[in-house]
Amino acid sequence: MSFQRVGKNILELLVLKKLLDGDRAKILSGKLKDNASASDYLLKKNLVSEEDLVKASAELFNIPFVRIQGRQLEPETLQTIPYDFCQRFNIVAFEKKGNVVQAAVAKPYFLKVGIRQGPLHTIEQEKGIVVEISATPKSDFEWALLYYKNRLSDESLPAVPSAIKTSELPSIALSAKNIDPKAIAKFPKDIIAKYQIAVFSAEKGLFKVGVVDPYDSRVDQILKFIEDKNQIKVEKYHITKDDLDYIIENWGKDKMGERVSQSTAGAPSPISVKDELRFSSPPVDTFKDEKVLSSEIKNVGGIYFFGDNAVAAPQIGRGENLRESTDLKDLAGADETDLDVFLGKQLSSKEEMIGIIQTGYMPKIVAGLFSLGVKFRASDIHIEPSKTRFRIRYRIDGQMQEFFYLPITLHPPMISRIKILSGLKIDEQRIPQDGRLNVKAQNHEIDVRVSSFPTVHGEKIVMRLLDKTTGKLTLEQLGIGGESLKRLRAEIDKPWGVIIATGPTGSGKTTTLYSIINSVSKPNINIITLEDPVEYDIEGINQAQVKPKIGFSFAEGLRSVLRQDPNVIMVGEIRDSETANLVTHAALTGHLVLTTLHTNDASSALPRLTNMKVEPFLITSSINAIIAQRLVRKLCPQCRKEANIPSEVRQEINAELKKIDNPQFFIAGKGCDQCFGGYLGRVGLYEVLTMSDKIEQAALQNQPASHIMKIAQDEGMITIRQDGILKSAQGLISLEEALKATND
Ligand SMILES: [Zn+2]
Repeated sequence: MSFQRVGKNILELLVLKKLLDGDRAKILSGKLKDNASASDYLLKKNLVSEEDLVKASAELFNIPFVRIQGRQLEPETLQTIPYDFCQRFNIVAFEKKGNVVQAAVAKPYFLKVGIRQGPLHTIEQEKGIVVEISATPKSDFEWALLYYKNRLSDESLPAVPSAIKTSELPSIALSAKNIDPKAIAKFPKDIIAKYQIAVFSAEKGLFKVGVVDPYDSRVDQILKFIEDKNQIKVEKYHITKDDLDYIIENWGKDKMGERVSQSTAGAPSPISVKDELRFSSPPVDTFKDEKVLSSEIKNVGGIYFFGDNAVAAPQIGRGENLRESTDLKDLAGADETDLDVFLGKQLSSKEEMIGIIQTGYMPKIVAGLFSLGVKFRASDIHIEPSKTRFRIRYRIDGQMQEFFYLPITLHPPMISRIKILSGLKIDEQRIPQDGRLNVKAQNHEIDVRVSSFPTVHGEKIVMRLLDKTTGKLTLEQLGIGGESLKRLRAEIDKPWGVIIATGPTGSGKTTTLYSIINSVSKPNINIITLEDPVEYDIEGINQAQVKPKIGFSFAEGLRSVLRQDPNVIMVGEIRDSETANLVTHAALTGHLVLTTLHTNDASSALPRLTNMKVEPFLITSSINAIIAQRLVRKLCPQCRKEANIPSEVRQEINAELKKIDNPQFFIAGKGCDQCFGGYLGRVGLYEVLTMSDKIEQAALQNQPASHIMKIAQDEGMITIRQDGILKSAQGLISLEEALKATND
């Protein structure tokens, strides 16, 4: 099926078909530049019927016109085009023969060739089908979409759900006779237009409300809300769109005017879009717009809930979606990766984000999520759907924090937007996907890893934010200081040997190794890394991602790396005895090797390596230093409070306190404008074990870790626990957190 427009615009075509007056068309064509806005205007002003307009559009685009309402639609056929896609692009599949799928499009006058070449083409390719497009009235499309939705949520529903055959509301035809002009003004004009509802009679606490779409669930919610808040009773009536438009035209007037229709209208007045959009001020007894809107958002304990009183979820306008769809390529363009520029500011609070969410403009909402995440130093953003709403949580300083609950209607467009940005397939929702993107926010360059996961309520997305500046922090900035730093420096400066970072997952081992790499990186030094995954891009070094599944393991990689004439090698993790042996071998042949091992403290690393069948004498002769570390939350200096230290803890810390001039302990405050719950950032706790004759001797004799630990302490090693106590005595962290993190 070709998808060519015939050489006329919609206005000319309507004139040709005698559906529109020629003079009027001339005036309109000067004001309305494209088919989409012309069509919208014609419909809004009731200048043509929707069916005539769709038929003409079909002709214009050289596609058939079909009616699909009431047809027997097969679920299998419907599902050839995913529901979200249908909703977004106003398209629905209604017939399938072999690999040819017939799809109906509502608002064909909005269609641009873009949908054909873009997203729809992707579906065709992936499913091996050919989609042929017809035009259908909006009411038919909406019927089919509702049918599709019901089939999705309950396969056992009857073929045609009875609820959509007829409305259960009594119908009423409105005219100047039964509309009370004062009653109309009970609702603000934009609420009337947005929800397609209007009060036409208001007496003794009873509001008679005309409803255009009885199936719009938002309508029930808003009317229920109004009943409750204003102690009145609402009676609903089914009215036509024409009647509603008649009400809107007469809103704010003392008496209802003549009904304006195409046949009775005189010469059209000049069009001013601005005039139409202007919001005339409502009479005093009108429900205040703000009151309704503010009920959309509730702040409960710092978490924002949308639509809990369920008045109105911000809606993504269809026109905007279509515009978005035709510009898919531009969306990930360079202009929008600098979020400070794109948003026009650096977000600093949840409240600012709420403002952006209320615009409903998804590219900015997603940009705002990133900007806010960087502002609060979040490591991850979680987007988690449930049945009626979805939750956005940030992981900040290791803790999950709830930020927003949003209506589920915003979930599909948000997921689509993120997928577009990160190169994931939009319509693949059944299997997990991984992608990535780069953004600049709050003056930080952020590498975002996106992972999608199908849940029963839709896709859950987790976005890991990797701040590139984190990979450039110095050892001092990470929190290694004093004697530990002095010892470590001496070992780093040796031309060969192994430096191992140990600690639990997420304790910042890799960050420590990056910091060491940065401190030794010089133009005349060849540095190669083997990582799984590569966490930060570092300039001037050669980073490789191991892929054990295809045989490129740490061990395999290390063999290849050794042929690449390196000076410094980083091996992401020692996981097996083969890698352990290669690491010691590499060190003994003149390389500085940096690696990590999953043990709790430094002294346990030696017995662990012995267990990995590395000869003890190779271990002791190759290892320079073993670092153990934990990440703990730093107290916010602005709101921290002085702590009372229990006497049983006093004894343990007294010895350490002698090393501090003026020890003072603090606990987290209740949070302030500078911090998040009293904490602000994180810092590492470290112990650095260096080799000595005694320790080597103990390792060679296969002595337990506790014995090695004791020797190291006797030789002046500051343990990770002592480091924690020292940092808490400086008011940097809480003593409780320090002891908890090192209690093993
Ligand atoms: Zn604070």
